Amino acid sequence: MDDVVIPAENLLGSEGDGFKYAMKGLDGGRLNIAASALGAAQAALDKALGYMAERKAFGKPINQFQALQFRLADMEIELQAARVFLYKAAWTYDQGLPEGTKYCAMAKRFVTDTAFEVANQALQLHGGYGYLADYGIEKIVRDLRVHQILEGTNEIMRLIVSRQLLSD
Ligand SMILES: Cc1cc2nc3c(=O)[nH]c(=O)nc-3n(C[C@H](O)[C@H](O)[C@H](O)COP(=O)(O)OP(=O)(O)OC[C@H]3O[C@@H](n4cnc5c(N)ncnc54)[C@H](O)[C@@H]3O)c2cc1C
Repeated sequence: MDDVVIPAENLLGSEGDGFKYAMKGLDGGRLNIAASALGAAQAALDKALGYMAERKAFGKPINQFQALQFRLADMEIELQAARVFLYKAAWTYDQGLPEGTKYCAMAKRFVTDTAFEVANQALQLHGGYGYLADYGIEKIVRDLRVHQILEGTNEIMRLIVSRQLLSD
């Protein structure tokens, strides 16, 4: 790219606003990351439900232990809350509302953290098999971990939200 000359009429947008445009592009990307995380966590929950019906301990399927049923319930509640919030953020983005960037950052933070926790619980519910590659859960957990880092870390998502709050 050294010595490349581009005619002034090829300028897109306004001079000096390039960084702002690039940052705006990240809003949709954050929704995308959150949606991927949500789908993977749902797959982990589905796998856990299947495994718990098969695996017996102390003479019964492990899905009959109330402590584990309560954990399943929490996983479902948290995933549904993440899904509803993600839809709200996507709607805000689609409408082009001024708070769109804040909603995309909030959804990315909330959904990716929730999805990681749900997948990690699903791994735990598989016992030792959860840690082995054969069951596919450990890969979901590893893949979801990076969603808390890429497309802007979840600390940076908090920075975006708090800046917006403080400027209101
Ligand atoms: C698998 C993978 C794929 C990626 N794909 C892409 C891609 O396609 N395109 C692309 O451009 N980038 C991509 N990245 C890069 C990714 O976006 C960055 O890794 C991420 O934004 C974090 O930046 P960093 O690694 O420089 O961390 P750093 O900025 O060095 O942060 C280190 C730690 O400090 C925290 N931190 C930093 N600043 C602050 C602050 N002001 N307040 C509080 N905490 C702070 C961070 O949250 C983090 O925990 C990818 C990364 C990974 C791991």
